[in-house]
Amino acid sequence: MTDGTSTTGSRRTAGAASGRTRAAAAAATEDRARTVRPEQVVVDEPPPEPDYPRYRVEPGTGVRLAEVDPDESEHYQKKKQVVPELEKQRKRIADLQARLYGENRRSMLLVLQAMDTGGKDGTIKHVFQGVNPQGCQVWSFKAPSAEESGHDFLWRYHQRVPPRGMIHIFNRSHYEDVLVVRVKGLVPEEVWRPRYEVINQFEHALALSGVTVLKFYLHISKEEQKRRLESRLADPDKRWKFSANDLRERRSWDDYMAAFEEAITNTSTDVAPWYVVPADNKWYRNLVIARTIADTLEAMDPQFPAPEAGLDQVVVED
Ligand code: AMP
Ligand code: MG
Repeated sequence: MTDGTSTTGSRRTAGAASGRTRAAAAAATEDRARTVRPEQVVVDEPPPEPDYPRYRVEPGTGVRLAEVDPDESEHYQKKKQVVPELEKQRKRIADLQARLYGENRRSMLLVLQAMDTGGKDGTIKHVFQGVNPQGCQVWSFKAPSAEESGHDFLWRYHQRVPPRGMIHIFNRSHYEDVLVVRVKGLVPEEVWRPRYEVINQFEHALALSGVTVLKFYLHISKEEQKRRLESRLADPDKRWKFSANDLRERRSWDDYMAAFEEAITNTSTDVAPWYVVPADNKWYRNLVIARTIADTLEAMDPQFPAPEAGLDQVVVED
């Protein structure tokens, strides 16, 4: 501590950092913040189509989930209309991912959260079709094991953060530790509440290390969840996905909405924003997420490394 009288948490965490240190961190933070507002960098005629920036939760403004219509799809009316556009966005993601991999300098972490049946698996399947499996990895998180529970709550997630060149997708994430944990009362509020701040610091540290963090909350209505659960029950090929636990969680719907709302409000930051994506229409959800990812990758502007000099003269011998 540089100042014996400072008492606030932020003063204390700023600690002994010098002015130069803080200025360097601020400059790096600003640079990352630009990347996650990609429409300002890569869209010639705003707003983009689909208009994904409207779903980004601006830091300090907060979100009221009841005011976001899960059935929203702008002017798009049916799946058929968006098939070619989704294909185009997938192609962009595949091309940009190849560059990210070749560049081998930075990475991307995508966090997917939703209520049961919200579409996390479907999003992964449809948005990442065509991406080189070598450059992309999915991590699904269930209730923690005994070993995982023995560590600080971020431990198991930090190990799965993407290394240089990679895109990692978290199918559920460290946010469960302020969601299910809160709703089910697995730990007291004194334990889960400070985690918002810890998560922000964690994601900030990742951002400054070259990891672009994007977070998507797939917003479905309670009625749509009922339809999807019923269809799981009715379809023999989907029955395996049904869990009696889903019905128990559904009874806590309002508690989950409150937990999501507060988590998103507290953790949508300049460098690691949340997008609240209307998700009753799967095809619209896919399109919004695909374009958000494609534009963000483009704003990162990954570059293939320069080839060795003199390659024009190279002859491959017989
Ligand atoms: P599913 O994604 O349907 O396979 O279910 C995974 C289950 O693991 C869900 O019920 C989650 O709520 C639960 N889960 C995931 N992360 C945690 C966590 N950190 N603490 C407790 N339960 C969790
Ligand atoms: Mg499930």
